[in-house]
Amino acid sequence: MPEGDTIHRTARRLEAALGGKEMVLADAPNPRSPIHGRAADLQGRVLERAEARGKHLLAHFSDGLALHSHLGMNGRWRIRADGRAPYGKPWLVLSSGRGVAAQSGGQILRLVSESRLRNDPVLARLGPDPLAPGFDLEAAAARLRSAGARLEIGEALLDQSLVAGIGNAIRNGGLWAARISPWRRVGDLEPADVERALHHCRRIMEIAVERGRRPESIYRAERRGCPRCGGPVSIRGQGDANRTSYWCPTCQT
Ligand SMILES: [Zn+2]
Repeated sequence: MPEGDTIHRTARRLEAALGGKEMVLADAPNPRSPIHGRAADLQGRVLERAEARGKHLLAHFSDGLALHSHLGMNGRWRIRADGRAPYGKPWLVLSSGRGVAAQSGGQILRLVSESRLRNDPVLARLGPDPLAPGFDLEAAAARLRSAGARLEIGEALLDQSLVAGIGNAIRNGGLWAARISPWRRVGDLEPADVERALHHCRRIMEIAVERGRRPESIYRAERRGCPRCGGPVSIRGQGDANRTSYWCPTCQT
């Protein structure tokens, strides 16, 4: 599942391929696309800016129209700069010159006016994004701690209303780097521990945006063992959504 770092990277790539350009083609050839028959509204508009907010991608076009995408579990963007047409029947194709972006699958794909976007209840509920300019680590940690003392830190980090953009790989990696067990209750952690966990999650996201991949961590390391101590990796589903937690019982307490 794409996490916030992937969406930030996608926003950058979308801007690099199509930013400042007028859309020569805007089409939704797949009948299953939520904007089938409407994508042409983007034709002739200029992509002014693309941004990520948590796992949501917002592309702002001229004359007050925005594209809102959320990839859910299985959506994806394919962005190219070589002018080649995308494979298959995507949910959306945008192209201008040699820049081509194609989107398929996912949870949300819609065209929305900037004024409606400003009041969007889904976006309004999101917690702060660790990669947003001006992200306040201390305030975000306080927000996590205020969510309930009995909440496990591994579950809290996945709650998009507390902090937005962290998914399963990032929270597992961040907690491992911070040497904190995902099963510790938020109320039993010192404020500095919660800040350290968030700091490492953000660090992983920054590295992934720069390099295109996340640093090695405990996530899916069950065969290799803990990258720090070599010990066995524990795995168990956590929270209502039963997301898989990976942790090292030796390094993470
Ligand atoms: Zn270890």
